[in-house]
Amino acid sequence: MSVVIRSAPVDLSARAAAIAESATLRVTRRAAELRARGVQVVDLGAGEPDFPSPAVAVEAARQALADGFTRYTPGSGIPELRAALAESYRERYGAPWQGNDSVITVGGKAALFELALALFEGGQEVVLPSPCWVSFPEQIRFAGASPVTVPTKVGDGFRIHAGPILEAVTSRTRAILLNAPCNPTGGVIAPEDLRRIVAFAAERGLVVISDETYERFTYDAPPVSAAALAAEFPETVVVVGSFSKTYAMTGWRIGYLLGPAAIVKAVENIQSHATSNPTSFAMVGALAALRHAGPEVEVMQAEYKARREIIAAGLNRIPGFQCRPPSGAFYAFPRVAACYGPGREDSTALAEYLLEQASVAVVPGAAFGAGEHIRLSFACSRATLEEGLERIAAALR
Ligand code: PLP
Repeated sequence: MSVVIRSAPVDLSARAAAIAESATLRVTRRAAELRARGVQVVDLGAGEPDFPSPAVAVEAARQALADGFTRYTPGSGIPELRAALAESYRERYGAPWQGNDSVITVGGKAALFELALALFEGGQEVVLPSPCWVSFPEQIRFAGASPVTVPTKVGDGFRIHAGPILEAVTSRTRAILLNAPCNPTGGVIAPEDLRRIVAFAAERGLVVISDETYERFTYDAPPVSAAALAAEFPETVVVVGSFSKTYAMTGWRIGYLLGPAAIVKAVENIQSHATSNPTSFAMVGALAALRHAGPEVEVMQAEYKARREIIAAGLNRIPGFQCRPPSGAFYAFPRVAACYGPGREDSTALAEYLLEQASVAVVPGAAFGAGEHIRLSFACSRATLEEGLERIAAALR
């Protein structure tokens, strides 16, 4: 006779209990659920390029698989990709980095998460501009530290200014975390502001983490990278980047960081226990993209630039919506509070209303710390964009 053993409930760690699902991934999941029920959802929620991954990357990865390049690699990534990345930053920005100054990670997200674990601890603060990407505050808290957000303003396109950032620094500050172009606002930073922030941080022994995931997508001015300051401030600057958006390779999960030797070593150690190496053949594809997919990136840049005008114009035609064309990235972040009312009291309720009533997925601004806004991605076809704009306008009429 079998004995029935009842399972007692299992407690989660305080860390896990305090963390919520990423709001952007939640929207994607909700949209997928509706689609599975046969609903024709227009997805303006996901930050997912609609372009195919570059053919050169696909072919290189396919060849790597065929050649049996399917085993563990060095934990920090294949040396060829590390060297090529460092070379690209040397050439474009005069950075002092060699391959050993980089770690290839499982997406930019893992680079940021491993950096948080390597650098932050209880009682410390991390200063960052707001609105900000959903994962920054969660990752900082997960590492035990506290995010200190500094508002950027809609009036100047959510530009990052050095003054307010530096005023937020206290004796508890460990790092300044920048993201320009910014997800969700598209806000950028001027080279003078970046320089002031890095020089200030260097004097005080703080780290500046510059998340440059959207570096290639700026529309009004050339890209600005903290890599250009790394030769002068080698102990201060850490650059995080990703193949996800630049090369439309989100699912490949290849990102990276470059920075001071001690930080690189600490991240390598953490990664060696967390993921081991990023996927072997995906790194081969990423290397091919880095070397040969420049023309594809240019096509995407031009197309996003055209789409930002379409989306901003379309949003400004909707009563209660106000949108400046974003300076970078591929998100529109209109102020929508003027259309709040019964059934759509705030950005979360409005996003739900648009999903249920118009089958359009958008992300509530509250997820980024900006409850008067919503985020709409224009990394989707023009037809999708126009259909989404029409549906939103009709649902709010
Ligand atoms: N940083 C920012 C600001 C992002 O928006 C994202 C993705 O949405 C990432 C980092 C991470 O991207 P991935 O992990 O796909 O490289």
